[in-house]
Amino acid sequence: MNTTTEPHWLARLCDPKHAGKRGRTDRPYLVEIDGASWTWASDARVLVAVPGLHAGAMWPDKEVSALVARMVAPGTGDAQFLDVAPLRAWCGPPVWRTDCPACLGQSRRRDEVSCEACDSTGYFNDDVIPGLLYGRPVDRRRLARGLEHVGGACALLYLDPDPEKPLRLHGDGWRICLMPLLDAPEGAPVFPPPAGSPAPGPLNDPTEQPP
Ligand SMILES: [Zn+2]
Repeated sequence: MNTTTEPHWLARLCDPKHAGKRGRTDRPYLVEIDGASWTWASDARVLVAVPGLHAGAMWPDKEVSALVARMVAPGTGDAQFLDVAPLRAWCGPPVWRTDCPACLGQSRRRDEVSCEACDSTGYFNDDVIPGLLYGRPVDRRRLARGLEHVGGACALLYLDPDPEKPLRLHGDGWRICLMPLLDAPEGAPVFPPPAGSPAPGPLNDPTEQPP
């Protein structure tokens, strides 16, 4: 059992902004997988689970426990065996949100503050970077964050027959559940890349610069 006292990297994935009635995005939580305790965190768009009890993680209520147990279980649809390194490269660097430099994050915390620079989200580098993963529109930025600290060379990707259901990616000692986007713009990068296409270069780097 991996028990640490340091704040776990999963805590960075949390996003209290989305912590609603059913959302448990304020801190890491626990789930039981095959009789073992795993720690998971979510920003309501990507959920990452790793084995072990990590500092600060709590058991959610029964309803959320059952929901998350279903989300981290293997999918019933087709599964793709894939290499993690090219998927990571396709996602781009795991850019993490920061407070908006224009409003210093105030538009997120205070209703009376509005900000054009960040659309009043209070965040910078938090918008969607779309791509098509085996034909499913996904946010490459959130997948990159999910993949940042997980290891292993290979993973299984479960594609639910219903394209609106989450995608499940299971690697060696980790599970990621990724909400699909409604659609992806024409020309969005495709994975696996078509034969003969150029490798991702600086033009595909989703990192933004402050205005
Ligand atoms: Zn702002």
